[in-house]
Amino acid sequence: MIAILKRGTSAQQAQHLIDWLKNMNLDVHVSTGTEITVLGLIGDTSRVDMELLSSLEIVDSVKRVSEPYKQANRKFHPNDSVIQAGQVSIGGGNFALIAGPCSVECEEQIIEVAQSVKKSGANILRGGAFKPRTSPYAFQGLKAEGIRLLLEAKKATGLPIITEIMDIRTLDLFEDVDIIQVGARNMQNFDLLQELGSTNKPILLKRGLANTIQELLMSAEYIMSRGNENIILCERGIRTYETATRNTLDLSAVPVLHELTHLPVVVDPSHATGRVSLVPPMAAAAAACGADGIMVEVHNNPSCALCDGAQSLTPVQFDEVAAKVRRIREAIS
Ligand code: PEP
Ligand code: MN
Repeated sequence: MIAILKRGTSAQQAQHLIDWLKNMNLDVHVSTGTEITVLGLIGDTSRVDMELLSSLEIVDSVKRVSEPYKQANRKFHPNDSVIQAGQVSIGGGNFALIAGPCSVECEEQIIEVAQSVKKSGANILRGGAFKPRTSPYAFQGLKAEGIRLLLEAKKATGLPIITEIMDIRTLDLFEDVDIIQVGARNMQNFDLLQELGSTNKPILLKRGLANTIQELLMSAEYIMSRGNENIILCERGIRTYETATRNTLDLSAVPVLHELTHLPVVVDPSHATGRVSLVPPMAAAAAACGADGIMVEVHNNPSCALCDGAQSLTPVQFDEVAAKVRRIREAIS
């Protein structure tokens, strides 16, 4: 349930109402916009007398929120959320250009890629240290050493870093990581989500291979319900019957999510398509449909990459993608 307060309501009047609602064992989520204040009521709202609440002098209107996700719901928080990763803002008109290799392989590789993507305009460096591979015999990532090398690249370039967590027992290693990624395969690892909800780290939550948009939002809700509201959603393609691409990039998820939620939405055209030739056009399309960022894989020598070389851009190709994305963003602004 949401209660929209009238313009001109004082902070004291609002607090009085919030205390009254909290006394009914409800959590109250307050969203203060430039125009209006919205109170989102979470919990058993069946005991709230809607007519009484609506009749209060400071209350403009009261609505039931039928969707099962509450804190992620745009009705609870009409303005776009802006997530802060180091000095970089994401959402609400701030664009994240995230680039880097699928996996961190060695110091030379990650530093070289970090420096070149920064030069091309990337504002966040990606790199996998813990890799969720389909085969247990495939390269599993450098793990703790991979995070150490990412931190070296962060020091060398000043770029904030994003890397994936697979197991909450490794959380201590992520202390200086700016954004923790939850990969597609872990989107519904509810224990992991809840534990990350108890941190204050920005979380990039990828859509699962076969998950609906509502399921993605319910996973965000798992994190938010524990107190961490710093979430960036990521569309990375879903499984369909199509085999021409690694996955099917559901770009309509971007405007759909923008309608349903205040959380920023980033698109990953690399894992969505699986082919380097398809990454530039889909990165451009993501920018054109209003994504709050893109995340692309870039490798200094894709043919020798230990993981996902076929979908990795070279630094020169990334430079062109970055320039095109900038032009598109200017054109649609
Ligand atoms: C990744 O970004 O490195 C990754 C494994 O992606 P996804 O979880 O989308 O497959
Ligand atoms: Mn990859």
